[in-house]
Amino acid sequence: MSTKTHAQHIIELDKAHFTHPWTVFDVFNDEGALPIAKAEGIYITDSQGKRYLDAVGGLWCTNIGLGREEMADTLAEQCRKMAYANPFVDMTNEPATLLAAKLAELAPGDIDHCIFTCGGSTAVDSAYRLIQYYQNCRGKHEKKHIISRKNAYHGSTYLSMSIGGKAGDHPPEFDFIDDFIHHLSCPNFYRAPEGLSEQAYLQTLVEEFEQTITRIGPDKVAAFFAEPIMGAGGVIVPPNGYHRAMADVCQRHDILYVADEVVTAFGRLGEWFASEELFDVTPDIITCAKGITSGYQPLGACLYSDRIHQVISEAGHERCFAHGFTYSGHPIACAAALKNIEIIEREKLLDNARDIGPYFQQQMQTLTDLPIVGEVRGQGLMVCVENVADKNSKQLFPEALDIGKRISDHCEELGLIIRPIVHLNVMSPPLTITREEVDFIVRTLRQAILRATDDLV
Ligand code: PLP
Repeated sequence: MSTKTHAQHIIELDKAHFTHPWTVFDVFNDEGALPIAKAEGIYITDSQGKRYLDAVGGLWCTNIGLGREEMADTLAEQCRKMAYANPFVDMTNEPATLLAAKLAELAPGDIDHCIFTCGGSTAVDSAYRLIQYYQNCRGKHEKKHIISRKNAYHGSTYLSMSIGGKAGDHPPEFDFIDDFIHHLSCPNFYRAPEGLSEQAYLQTLVEEFEQTITRIGPDKVAAFFAEPIMGAGGVIVPPNGYHRAMADVCQRHDILYVADEVVTAFGRLGEWFASEELFDVTPDIITCAKGITSGYQPLGACLYSDRIHQVISEAGHERCFAHGFTYSGHPIACAAALKNIEIIEREKLLDNARDIGPYFQQQMQTLTDLPIVGEVRGQGLMVCVENVADKNSKQLFPEALDIGKRISDHCEELGLIIRPIVHLNVMSPPLTITREEVDFIVRTLRQAILRATDDLV
C-alpha cells in the first residue's frame, strides 16, 4: 500500500468510527480530519510528510514540546517497573506521592492537598464534589450554588460544561444543569459599553457579582469559578484588578474562590500558577491539567487548601470521602508530570516564557493595521486575534462565513497551525518557543489574513 493510500485509508476509517470532540458532522463527513503522524518540539508532521509549526501547542498543552527522548525513557521505565497501582483508600505509589508533594510546594498559599484526576473536566467536577462535601461537613447544606461567567470554558462533562458559559457550546440539542449554576458577564473590555473607562467597567462587573449573590442569597452561594485568563472563550484578559476585587467579594460572603488554571498553570504565563503571582489572589481551590504533563500523559488535579482539608478531615470521623477514579494518581502519568516539572525547572522554561511572552504579544500587535483585525489580545504565551467586519463598530462577520476557519486554513497551507473559534484565532505555543519562531508565526498569519480578506471580495 503506498503512503498516500494508507493515509487515505486512515482518513476513511476515522470518518467511519471516531466521533471527535466538537465534530461538525456535515463538514466532517465531507472533509474528514488531518492525520498527524509525528511531533517534535514545536513542529508536527502530517501523514503526507508536510511539516507545520504548531502554534496551538496541541491544545494549550505541549508546554515542554513533544518528542523528548528523556520523557520517552521515563514513561518506558515506569511502565516496565509498575504500569498501574490501585490508588483507593490505603494503597499508594511513589510517583503519585512525590507529585502531590511537589504540587503542594509549587502551589500558592496553604494549597497543600491534591485530588488526582484524568484531565481538566474531571478536576472541575472533583472541585465541585469537594465543595459539596465541605459545605455539608460545615452544616451549610443550602450553600451549593455556583457562580461562573459567560464565555468561560471549564470542560465537557455534564457538570463542567454547565459551569462553562460559551453560547456556542450550549446548543439546544444538549441539556445543562441550570438550577444551581449562574453566569455573570464576561469581563471583556473590548466589548464593554461604549465610553466606560476600564475602572468604571470593572465597577459594573463587581456590582453585578454582588447583586447576583444578593438575589440567590449569600447562604446559598458556595463558590465562584474563574479562569485567570479565559482561554477557549477567546483569551479574555480581565480588567486590571478584576480577580482581586472578585476575591474580596467572595471573602465577604464566605464564598470559595476556584481558579481554573487548566490552561494558565505550568508556565503559559511565565509562572507555575498565575493566580497569586499575576492576579494577586490566593485561591481556595485550583484545578489544573494540560501543562502538568505537557500532553505526554492524560492527568489533571484539583488542589485545595489546608483550611478545607482541616474541615473535611475533622468532620470525617467514620465518614468516607467517596470520590476518585481507577486512574487517580496513575503512576505513569505522575512520573510524566514529575519529569515535565524537572525539565521546566532545569531548562528555565518559565524564564523563557517571561522573556518571549512580551515579544510575542508585541509582534502580534503589528497585525492590528490589517483591515479585519479588530483586536489582538493576550498575555504571556496566550494570544487571540479577534476578526471583525467593521473595525469602528466592531461588528462581526456572519457566523456562516467562518472567518476564523478561513484564516486557519490559509495558515495550514503555509505550514502554520492556529486554532479557529468562530470569528477568533487563538494560539498557545510551547514554552520553548524562540524569537525566530514568533517571527514566522506573525509573518505567516499576516499573509493568511490577507488571503482570507481577498477571498471575501
Ligand atoms: N478548564 C479549562 C480552563 C480548559 O481550558 C479546559 C480544556 O480546554 C478544561 C477545563 C477541560 O480540560 P480537559 O479537556 O482536559 O477535560
